Amino acid sequence: MTPSSFDGFGLAEPLRRALNTENHHKPTPIQAQAIPYLTQGRDLLGIAQTGTGKTAAFALPILHRLAAERRPRAPGRPHALILAPTRELACQIDERFRAYGRGLGVKSAVILGGVGQGKQVQALAAGVDILIATPGRLLDLHSQRHVSLAEVSILVLDEADRMLDMGFIRDVRKIVAACPKQRQTLLFSATMPTDIAKLAAEILQDPVRVDVAPAKVTADRIDQRVYFVPAQSKRALLNELLADPAMDRVLVFTRTKRNADRVCRALQQAGLVAEALHGNKAQNARVRALDAFRSGRARILVATDIAARGIDVPGVSHVINYELPNEPESYVHRIGRTARAGAGGAAIAFCDPSERAYLKAIERLTRVSVPVAEHRLTDATPEAPHRERPARSGAAPQPKRPHPPRGQHADGQSRGKRQESWRGQHSGGQTRGQHSEGRSRGRHAEGPSGGEHSQGVLTTLARSSRPRGTPRLAGDPR
Ligand code: AMP
Repeated sequence: MTPSSFDGFGLAEPLRRALNTENHHKPTPIQAQAIPYLTQGRDLLGIAQTGTGKTAAFALPILHRLAAERRPRAPGRPHALILAPTRELACQIDERFRAYGRGLGVKSAVILGGVGQGKQVQALAAGVDILIATPGRLLDLHSQRHVSLAEVSILVLDEADRMLDMGFIRDVRKIVAACPKQRQTLLFSATMPTDIAKLAAEILQDPVRVDVAPAKVTADRIDQRVYFVPAQSKRALLNELLADPAMDRVLVFTRTKRNADRVCRALQQAGLVAEALHGNKAQNARVRALDAFRSGRARILVATDIAARGIDVPGVSHVINYELPNEPESYVHRIGRTARAGAGGAAIAFCDPSERAYLKAIERLTRVSVPVAEHRLTDATPEAPHRERPARSGAAPQPKRPHPPRGQHADGQSRGKRQESWRGQHSGGQTRGQHSEGRSRGRHAEGPSGGEHSQGVLTTLARSSRPRGTPRLAGDPR
């Protein structure tokens, strides 16, 4: 059972005060399971994804230990190293360390690509306890001898499967090799592909394994809808839906960077306050866009999967899949940006005729038949026979608050019943728990050339590759 408070963990007083300030009163399951072992110095293998509270699960014990040890800081010689695949995640982790570590006298710095190295070199030279880094820039500064990993006693690999997908695994191995053998090591990953299991076996010693449930519960709280709309009507539909003031913090997803810019520009021309976030933007522009969205100055953020992956913005009322992702797992990640921290949320998908196969793959993965919404701009053509159009019109779905009764689908049909008919028609489809062996790689909307901006496929609800026979459609990402 999850303890009802952080009291039993023996954390230093300033940490407990910071937890209060942050309104973290009850540990999340991963925190409850991991913190007691981590404070004892054990290695850990955490199967968890963003949104589970995993950052605090490792940040609190690290801060606790470093504050107790009070080792002197030497220039460029950190005591704890956290590796993250993307710049956004690295910044987010740094922000959490600063929030939890307030008043402890422990110093952290973040090192990432895409910006000049001068300030990072300066921060290292001033001495840091905790270094949060993306692999490429860290190796770069390491080879320039601005940083030594010889005093790292705690090493965390966060989102290891994503590092693998992004092609960082060799860099990660080099970094691990540069750390002392005697250390505490933590590895977090949302999935456990063979390469990550191998890496874990190599670098962890007698680890505690903590496996927390993925985002299924979150997905259950989200009111999902799909509009069948011709590609050329998507812009008009978006504008019309955005007229609803209930859409107060809206994350719009496109498959490509170019389309993110196009959609954002069109919204701005329509007088709406929107920002775009994708891997081609300079780091400063990305930070500015995210800040504007977080603070509410921009009501709409138009993003690609890669840029938005792992980003935690509370209070997103609606996620709009302006273009459906070609990897069904990305859909689950996208809609998981709403309904954070127990709130409800709404996810709207625009599906043009070229995207029907993507929708099918999503429904097969999530085992949920997404209810169809209608609008004067949507296709009049009847959908596949299993679909029943709910008696709804134009209005966008509202976030589910409070949670509807379990098992009751938005159109009043029980989930079980819908799934029966769904399964009947897709007997070749995968069901939850039937994991495909292979993991499709390299199908990146923002390919590996995006370096630390780019990300690969992540799986959440279940592992699945593109279903056999699913065509690569026109409009696949460039
Ligand atoms: P993470 O999975 O680390 O990205 O955390 C997701 C979100 O949960 C962050 O916004 C955290 O601030 C928040 N969070 C982490 N731990 C707790 C907790 N025990 N209670 C409430 N919120 C939390």
